[in-house]
Amino acid sequence: MAQQDTEHSVNEEPKESGEFIVDTEDCEARELAHRERGTSRPITVVGNPVLHKECKDVTEFGDELAQLIDDMFASQRTAEGVGLAANQIGVDLKVFVYDCPDDEGVRHVGHVVNPVLDELPADRRILDDSNEGCLSVPTAYASLARPDYAVVRGQDMHGNPIAVEGTGYFARCLQHETDHLYGYLYIDRLSKRDRKDALRQMAEGTPRYPVVAND
Ligand code: ZN
Repeated sequence: MAQQDTEHSVNEEPKESGEFIVDTEDCEARELAHRERGTSRPITVVGNPVLHKECKDVTEFGDELAQLIDDMFASQRTAEGVGLAANQIGVDLKVFVYDCPDDEGVRHVGHVVNPVLDELPADRRILDDSNEGCLSVPTAYASLARPDYAVVRGQDMHGNPIAVEGTGYFARCLQHETDHLYGYLYIDRLSKRDRKDALRQMAEGTPRYPVVAND
């Protein structure tokens, strides 16, 4: 997901803990270690088939997966993103990485393999209509209502089960990246008119990072 270009709202929900991984400690060192081992790759953009179909489940938890995650952190940093899905660097596997602040400004760094979003109970489904952008729709932003709280379950790079909890902008990121791995871009959730406007913004802008040209 692209960095937010507007103020985000304040979320006053209390933090929960226990079943969720801690992804707020040693963020700077962890992110740096990943991207120093990784190689930055160009970003696929809307129209590339790899972005518009469900990615394959990850079944091998070895060195290749670790290298992919490192490359994704390197690519995310080059493109100045807050989240990146594997198909955004052309890899057809269910993996995403993130480096994203929540609504208290706390930084979260991590990765999720084979992510699935929890269905939210009605009382946690509070919609927030902040702006959203995507590295695969360069230079475009649009307002999109999404729940301001999200839980994603999946695995880590070793195959261990994990759950990640997010509020505010980080909740938006978790939903956005999981959508990618099922073949959906945020513009697919917009009205026809807003989608057209986002594509116009993209056509008029110039990405500030390397992209894969569509045929
Ligand atoms: Zn995106």
